[in-house]
Parts: sequence; C-alpha cells; structure tokens
Amino acid sequence: MAKKQSFADKANKKKHSETCPVCGTEIAHIKLMKAENRDGNWRFTNKPVGVCKCNEAEVYG
Ligand SMILES: [Zn+2]
Repeated sequence: MAKKQSFADKANKKKHSETCPVCGTEIAHIKLMKAENRDGNWRFTNKPVGVCKCNEAEVYG
C-alpha cells in the first residue's frame, strides 16, 4: 500500500521562498558578480546573495 503524503511533505515541495523579517518582501537569491582589484589584477567573484528591499539598492547599485 502506498504511503500517503502528509500535508507537511507537500508544503515542503512548494516553491521555496524566504521572506525578510525586516521589510517583509520575498528574498530573491541571485548571483552577484563582483570585481575586485588586487595588486593591479582584476578578479571576479560570483557570490550568491539574498536580495530584499533592505539591500536591493546596495546590491543593484
Ligand atoms: Zn529586508
């Protein structure tokens, strides 16, 4: 007999989203390309960041 999925299991399968407790907007996870100049050499780093209203101006410049 097939085991019935619990409601919790179904809820977990739903789109994973986080909401910022400060501003209440959904946090978008993006990869931020950052350029750093070290000793005259440009290095690019790909950093995954969560963006919400609190820091979107800062992140998107
Ligand atoms: Zn926020």
